[in-house]
Amino acid sequence: MPTNLKLWKEISKLADSAGIDFIGVADLSPALPFIREMGGDVVDGFPLAVSIGIRLPDPVVDMLPKRFDRAVAVNYRNHAYVTINYRLDVFTSRLAGLIQREGFRALPIPAAERSSGDYALSNDRKISAVFSHKLAAHLAGFGWIGKSCLLVTPQYGPRVRWSSVLTDAPLKTTGKPMKRKCGKCRECVDICPVKAFKGREFDPKESREMRYDAKRCQDYHHKMETKIGLPVCGMCLYVCPTGRKSTI
Ligand code: SF4
Ligand code: SF4
Repeated sequence: MPTNLKLWKEISKLADSAGIDFIGVADLSPALPFIREMGGDVVDGFPLAVSIGIRLPDPVVDMLPKRFDRAVAVNYRNHAYVTINYRLDVFTSRLAGLIQREGFRALPIPAAERSSGDYALSNDRKISAVFSHKLAAHLAGFGWIGKSCLLVTPQYGPRVRWSSVLTDAPLKTTGKPMKRKCGKCRECVDICPVKAFKGREFDPKESREMRYDAKRCQDYHHKMETKIGLPVCGMCLYVCPTGRKSTI
């Protein structure tokens, strides 16, 4: 069996055993200038990303309008953020080990998207991680980047958390970037309590700042932390009709 097929079979087996909902391979070449600008030397030199997604539990997301109730916020923070990020990080660590044992380079990128200064691979200036997991998932063919800057999957909307392993292993790419399907919808733009989104469609040639004010979102999370002891919002994720239909 050719190396790439044998390796992909092992990766898929590992993903199944870890309860991974989405696993695919993205060709990073169309986005290399953006990736270099975002992560510099840390992420340069990898032609592919293995994109990994875990679906969030719908009942936990559906409770978000009541997030001022601390029990709701604790559940969301625990089961839609901390635990899923942990599961993703454990999986990407194992996956990078597997790829490395086969003789290829593999860099696991931490799952958390918003850096907090103490994060090993953070870039505080941009309030973002060094690599966009959502961009990798988009390039792997899992969904489109919505007006909320979230990756919207046709199956579960944005109710999926993503991670990535960058690699030079000879894997076959699994899909093409999906066409945007937000259309006239603006639900995420309108529900944001601090109007962080400008309502613009994703354009790979534009910086994220043209569509999204990350500082507003971060300040709101700080405000929530002061108020209820936890930095929880996620209303843009909750409201997307593509994700809500999966819970009906
Ligand atoms: S998480 Fe909340 S504050 Fe941040 S962009 Fe989404 S809706 Fe706005
Ligand atoms: S809420 Fe509407 S505009 Fe926002 S990402 Fe979902 S489909 Fe697109």
